[in-house]
Amino acid sequence: MYKNLVDFTKKLYKNSENLPLHEPFFDNDEKKYLEDVIDSTFVSSVGKAIKIFEDEIKKFTSSKYAVATVNGTSALHTALKISGVSINDEVITQSLTFVATSNAITYCGAIPNFLDVDKDTLSLSPICLKEFLSSHCEMRKDGFCWNKLTNRRIKSCIVMHTFGLAGRVHELREICNLHNIILIEDAAESLGTFIGKTHTGTIADIGIMSFNGNKIITTGGGGMILTQKKDLGEKFRHITTTAKVNHEWHFDHDEIGFNYRMPNLNAALGVAQMKKLKTFLATKRNIASSYQKWGKDNSIEFVREIDGTTSNYWLNALLAENIRERDDILEITNKNGVMTRPAWKPMHQLKINQKFETFVPLVNTDWLFERVVCMPSSFSKELDLS
Ligand SMILES: *Cc1c(COP(=O)(O)O)cnc(C)c1O
Repeated sequence: MYKNLVDFTKKLYKNSENLPLHEPFFDNDEKKYLEDVIDSTFVSSVGKAIKIFEDEIKKFTSSKYAVATVNGTSALHTALKISGVSINDEVITQSLTFVATSNAITYCGAIPNFLDVDKDTLSLSPICLKEFLSSHCEMRKDGFCWNKLTNRRIKSCIVMHTFGLAGRVHELREICNLHNIILIEDAAESLGTFIGKTHTGTIADIGIMSFNGNKIITTGGGGMILTQKKDLGEKFRHITTTAKVNHEWHFDHDEIGFNYRMPNLNAALGVAQMKKLKTFLATKRNIASSYQKWGKDNSIEFVREIDGTTSNYWLNALLAENIRERDDILEITNKNGVMTRPAWKPMHQLKINQKFETFVPLVNTDWLFERVVCMPSSFSKELDLS
């Protein structure tokens, strides 16, 4: 029954063998920049490419500050640390996300509180957040928001822009502001995604990105912390470079920092990749249109950007009728050389998270998990976009 989908995807990519879900694209630029860095001998966390890469990201996103890190997970961990998240604090996030979002919370000794997503954005639902805060939380004399059921302070909230679709950050920001909760955007998947003209990751005070090999651009491994506040920008730079106090030769560290700075070698890849970002984005919109058109002709729904937003269409996702159809599609595509994947097992279903209580029904999360199938979405020069 889904042979048609296999054939369509193979034709789209003019690839009839092993079609990956998302592979990086390199040309001679990457080799040249890497060679320059190797010749300079500055391959580690000091070097020109890091500053250039940070500046390129700042320019593209209009973020005031950007600090490059070894990966997206370390960027999240740092964002939470600098937000003051520590033992027994509660951090709200969506259950439908990659495990790094939830792990970063537990690295701080904090407790994740998983809420539901919206069906259209696949990202944290402002309605769910509002309802949870009004029914289970209260503002106390200290000016902070407390979960009445656990007697823990809700310190922070992480929204993740799923598959590059923009979440409802403005609405979430308003709710978080009213409750004195620090909002963080996990924009790991959403470089190139805008709400109006504002880049995702720059709407909240803190945002993070990832440049892992499967993301829209890659530095091999890498991440970025974005912030619109000068004091936060300085703190991020300091804590990710072992909290070393600036001095020509002395080693002094004024707190326990992390060795989380991105190496110059990785940044070189990033500089070369940024030159292609606009081409990647334009092509990905065309890939998304092709899938959506095929979907329309074959009565299969694909997830789309909502009005007022521009998705980077990092991954194209279809919605199966039910879990049985999802599993059939996964089986047929993967057995026939077309790599597809379901959504991540929701965080509240993971064994490692069973000790964390959930307080609201996660209906949309479960509904989406049973239906989402991610389709091959790489940039390629071989595409048949006719
Ligand atoms: C990729 C990703 C991360 C983590 O990034 P790494 O660079 O792999 O550490 C975090 N959150 C989400 C949603 C991701 O997709």
